[in-house]
Amino acid sequence: MVKSGKAYHPLLERLLMVFETIRLRVLTLVIISVLAPSMLGGLLAVRYLSGVLQQQEFQTLSRTAERYSIRLSQWFSDRTSDVRAFTSSYLLNEDVRVLLREDGQQPRAKSKTSVERYMSYLLEDNHSFEGFAVHTGDGKILTAQPEGTDLGDGVGEILPSLGSDPRILEISDGGSSRIIIGQSLTDPSEDRVAFFIGIVRSEVIRKTLLEDLPSQSTAYIVDKSGIIKGMTDPRLQNRPLPPRVRSLLRTTGATEEFRGLSGEKVIGTAYALDVLPWHLVMETPSKKAFATLSSFRGQMMLMTISLAAILLIPAILLARTIILPLEELSRVAKRIRTGEAGLQVSTSPRGELGEFIFTFNRMSESLRLSMEEIQAINNQLRVMSVTDPLTGRYNRRYITDQVQRELKLARRTGQTFSLIMIDLDHFKDYNDRYGHIAGDETLRKVGDVLVENIRETDIVARWGGEEFLVYLSHADREGAAGIAEKLRIAVEQTSFIMKGKDTRVTISLGVAAAPEDGSNFDELIEHADQALYKAKRAGRNRAKTFSGQGSHLSSLSDAKRSKP
Ligand code: GH3
Ligand code: MG
Ligand code: MG
Repeated sequence: MVKSGKAYHPLLERLLMVFETIRLRVLTLVIISVLAPSMLGGLLAVRYLSGVLQQQEFQTLSRTAERYSIRLSQWFSDRTSDVRAFTSSYLLNEDVRVLLREDGQQPRAKSKTSVERYMSYLLEDNHSFEGFAVHTGDGKILTAQPEGTDLGDGVGEILPSLGSDPRILEISDGGSSRIIIGQSLTDPSEDRVAFFIGIVRSEVIRKTLLEDLPSQSTAYIVDKSGIIKGMTDPRLQNRPLPPRVRSLLRTTGATEEFRGLSGEKVIGTAYALDVLPWHLVMETPSKKAFATLSSFRGQMMLMTISLAAILLIPAILLARTIILPLEELSRVAKRIRTGEAGLQVSTSPRGELGEFIFTFNRMSESLRLSMEEIQAINNQLRVMSVTDPLTGRYNRRYITDQVQRELKLARRTGQTFSLIMIDLDHFKDYNDRYGHIAGDETLRKVGDVLVENIRETDIVARWGGEEFLVYLSHADREGAAGIAEKLRIAVEQTSFIMKGKDTRVTISLGVAAAPEDGSNFDELIEHADQALYKAKRAGRNRAKTFSGQGSHLSSLSDAKRSKP
C-alpha cells in the first residue's frame, strides 16, 4: 500500500486502496485509453451524423409537401380554367338569358333542356366535378345537373362575391362543406344576374393528393380554423387535429416531430395553398422517416463496439504480459519477506521486466546464500560462546546459566540436582615433569573421561585452570557421591601416554546437592569448593560431600592415593 501523508474520506481511502492493485490500475488505463476514445468517437459520430440525417429527412418531407401544395394549387387553377371555358359557351349564355326572363313558357323549357344537356355533357367529360348548377342572383336555382343537386342555404351568401372571373369558394351546409368554382354568367351590370357553379368532387382532391404519396405518409387539408377538410387516409377521419399542427400552420414549410393524427410519432410539415385559405399537412411516421437513421445508429454502435473489442483484446493481452509477472513478483517478494529466501519468479517475459525478474531472482538466490552463511556463522558462534577452546567441553558461562535455570525450575518443582567440583591433583608437578603441552593434552583427556562417565542429561564444563564442574540432573547427595566416586576411579584408571610414557593423574572431588546444600548458585559452588578443599586436605584422590554448616565433610573414598 502506498502511504500518503494526506488523509481522505474513509470511503475514498478504501476506493483508492482498491486501485492500488496493478491489475485495476492497468485495467483502468486500458479502459481510459481504449474504450473511452472509441466509445466517445462513436458517440460523437452518431450524434453528428444523426443530426445531418434527421435534417435531411425533414428537408425531404418539406420538399414533398411543397410539391404537393403546388400540385394541388395547379389542379385548382386547371379547374378554374375549366369553369372559365364552360361559361364561355355562347349557347349557355343565351339559354340562361332566356331562363332569366319570366315570360314565354315555351322557349324557357327549351333553354332549360339545352342547359341541362350542356351540363350533362360537361359532367361526362369532367370527372373533377360532381355537379353543376345555375343560380339567380337571389339564390334561386335555375337548373342543375345531376337533378336534385342542391347547395343549400349557404349559396346565397357566396353569390355576391362571384364576378366575371371564376372563383374557388367553400360553401358550408350544416356540418358538411363543399368546394365550388363559380362565376357570373351574364354581365353583372344587367338587372338579372345568373351564376354558374361547378361543384368540385372532393374525392378527386383526395385522389390527386394520393398520387405518388410516399408510402406510410398521410396528407390532409386543414382550414384556417383547424378543421380537417380532406385526407388521404379515410381511417383517420374524425380524429382531432394534433395540437402541434396549429403552430405549424403559422410558418409554412417548418418541419417538426410530434404525435400525429394517428397518435404515433411523426415528422410533419404544413404548406399554405394559394387558392384557398387552406393548409396542406403532411405527416410521415418517425419510425419510417428515421428508419435509415436508426439502422445507421445500430450499425455505428456495432462498429464502435467491434472496434473497442478489437482494440481491447490486444490491450488486455498486452496488459496481462505486465500484470501477471508483476503479480507473481509481488507474491514471491511477500514470501521472501516472510523467510522464504531463494524463492524464484517462474515467468520470464522479454524486455526490461524480464531483466528485472532475472535480477530479482539472482538477488533472492544471493539472499538465500547469505542467510545460510549467516546461519552457519551464528551456529558456530553459538557453539563457540558456550565451549571451552582448550578442552572442547562447555565453558564456565554455559554451565553457570544452565545451573541457574535448573535452580529456578527446582524451586518450583522441588527437583533435586547436584554439583561436583573437580580439581586435578598436583598438576603443577605434572606440568613441570611433562611440559605444558602434555599438561593441556591430559587436561583435555580428563574432560573426555568425565563426559564418558555421566548421563546425556548431565553437563561437564571446564570451570577454570585445571578444574571442572559437573552438573548432575535428578541426583541427590548420595546419588551424586556415587557418581563422583565413579569419576574418580575412571580418571585414576586412565593411562595418559605422554612422550611414550604411561602417565597417570588423579582428581579430588567436592559434592554439593541442591536444595539441601545451598539455595542459590554461589552458595552451592562455595559448598562444593569447601567439599573439594576437604578432599584435598584429606590426602587428595578422593571425593567428599558437603554436609552442612559446622558438620563434617564426609569421606567417600578411602582409595589409596596414587601419585602421578
Ligand atoms: P593441588 O591442587 O593438588 O593442591 O596441587 P596443584 O599443583 O594442582 O595446585 P593448584 O591446583 O593450585 O595448581 C594449579 C596448577 O595447575 C598451576 C598450573 O601449573 C596448572 N594449570 C592450571 N591451568 C592449566 C592449563 O590450562 N594447562 C596446563 N598444562 N596446566 C594448567
Ligand atoms: Mg587448581
Ligand atoms: Mg590442582
